[in-house]
Amino acid sequence: MPATARAKSHASAVASGLRRAYPDVTCALGHEDAFQLLVATILSAQCTDERVNQVTPNLFARYGTPETMAAAPLKSLESLIRSTGFFRNKAKSIQACSQALVRDYGGQVPRDLDALVELPGIGRKTANVVLGTAYGIPSGVVVDTHVTRISRRLGLTKHTDAAKIERDLMEQLPRRQWIDFSHRMIHHGRRICKARKPLCNECSLESICPRVGVEQPAASR
Ligand code: SF4
Repeated sequence: MPATARAKSHASAVASGLRRAYPDVTCALGHEDAFQLLVATILSAQCTDERVNQVTPNLFARYGTPETMAAAPLKSLESLIRSTGFFRNKAKSIQACSQALVRDYGGQVPRDLDALVELPGIGRKTANVVLGTAYGIPSGVVVDTHVTRISRRLGLTKHTDAAKIERDLMEQLPRRQWIDFSHRMIHHGRRICKARKPLCNECSLESICPRVGVEQPAASR
């Protein structure tokens, strides 16, 4: 069902509030090109960006291109990314993805969502991160754990499924806002609208937030 005028107006107010609060926020993962961002995003699953940023300088010094990563010994990859957790699966995904890039795309990261999600280990969230941040292509809204939680609290969606949440956000916001909105929501989730204890009294969106599912009123915090 298309977004109502009221839903769009609310989403616009949220996007404006986030823009005022975090005018310059961008992706926190260190990278020099689309390939390195792709790898860093795979590593960020179940891991903090800070931890990923501790690992990637050494990793990219050794294997900073699809060609070198595709040919890297798996054990060497595993040991370089071990501290990010789930390192065996991540190493396999990174290597399989790199091999596919070399084999099918001449070592280039494709600028196309459908092509990206066909790569091993790449889902829609990672594809949106790479296209938006590395190429400036607004392919969708990045829906991670922060965007899921905050979107529900702010009344932007009633869904829990990432694909449905993304569809709601894409219908409510103009395409030109998708990239920055994603970065700002994730930043807001880390700093203010935290999972266990949202800091509503410090939140710039407090006056327009219905705080769906948040137990205590902001005034009591
Ligand atoms: S008012 Fe509270 S629940 Fe709403 S966005 Fe801000 S921190 Fe999150």
